[in-house]
Amino acid sequence: MEVSLSDCVFCKIVAGQIPAKKVAESEKSLAFFDVSPRQPLHVLVVPKNHHDNVADLAFSDPEALVDLIQLGSKIANDHAAGSFRLTFNTGSDAGQTVFHAHGHITSKSLKETSGN
Ligand code: AMP
Ligand code: ZN
Repeated sequence: MEVSLSDCVFCKIVAGQIPAKKVAESEKSLAFFDVSPRQPLHVLVVPKNHHDNVADLAFSDPEALVDLIQLGSKIANDHAAGSFRLTFNTGSDAGQTVFHAHGHITSKSLKETSGN
């Protein structure tokens, strides 16, 4: 199914047209809490520019992918108690439901000091 960029929910969040609980941002990436968290920590990190999935992002803007991973790692360091997962569902059969590249930062345990 084709989704036009003007309908992309994560482009709208980046543009401030849809509210999101923002966690952090960098020049190229934005992080916000997942609206339906599946772990005690569940943050999404997205490139500010639209790419359909992480594979497209890797080929068309590898610096933005590194930036996304670095921002996600900092968030995990601030909020998770040591261990975390960074996952990218790629393609609908793999569970991708929003076709704007995004990494899920998830962790089973939060830092005591996390304001999450
Ligand atoms: P995926 O299934 O890997 O494409 O992940 C998409 C994620 O985006 C899901 O975990 C949704 O809960 C989350 N999501 C969808 N819409 C929003 C939104 N408006 N704000 C925050 N998270 C969202
Ligand atoms: Zn988008």
